[in-house]
Amino acid sequence: MDALTAEQIAERIWLSIAERRLRPGMRLKEAELAEVFGISRARVRQVLAMLEREGLVTSEVNKGAFVAEPNVEEARDIFHIRRSVEQRVIERLMDRLDESKLDAMVAHVEQERVANAENDQRAIIKLSGGFHMMLAEMAQADFLCGLMRDLIGRSSLITAAFRDSDKYNCGPDEHEEIITHLRSGDVKAAKKAMAHHLDHVEKELRLSGEREAAKSLKDALLGGA
Ligand SMILES: [Zn+2]
Repeated sequence: MDALTAEQIAERIWLSIAERRLRPGMRLKEAELAEVFGISRARVRQVLAMLEREGLVTSEVNKGAFVAEPNVEEARDIFHIRRSVEQRVIERLMDRLDESKLDAMVAHVEQERVANAENDQRAIIKLSGGFHMMLAEMAQADFLCGLMRDLIGRSSLITAAFRDSDKYNCGPDEHEEIITHLRSGDVKAAKKAMAHHLDHVEKELRLSGEREAAKSLKDALLGGA
């Protein structure tokens, strides 16, 4: 394996969490991670610190690092905040919309449909969160963007931990509905569609804590989905 950057390794670990191969509560041993990725332990610590800042990893003195275990109340908090933030994103976005942005949204949803049809879990997860991130970026509101980056990362972990089926279903149909209202300039309807969509995503989560058996760290990071 070529030497990966800290960002690439963080991304790999994030994906393993999002694809449910790396489960909440699993221990992330420095030595094992160093071996799996062929990097120094100093680099491993750098990656873990990065993930900890994003809320995906927790560390305990003398015990090491673990995949964060979001609790049910925290999951509800995050969706509560997302609802407010994303309502504001829609309002801010409305003033900045143009054809090229709308076309980019439509193209994004098309990619989501392809990923769904191919059952490409990695792409589905990335694209689903990516749609929400895209709206925040197009709104060109830096503060909201920063919040969304954090919220999407945490939402992905929660979805990975709690989703009810293997299909990550932040559906392209509901995204398309939001775009339709944005295109017609109906801010009220767009906000309503977004609120409904986030309610739906939250409802699909099984917010009670049963667990699946953990795989080994190596399998979780390098194995197939
Ligand atoms: Zn969505």
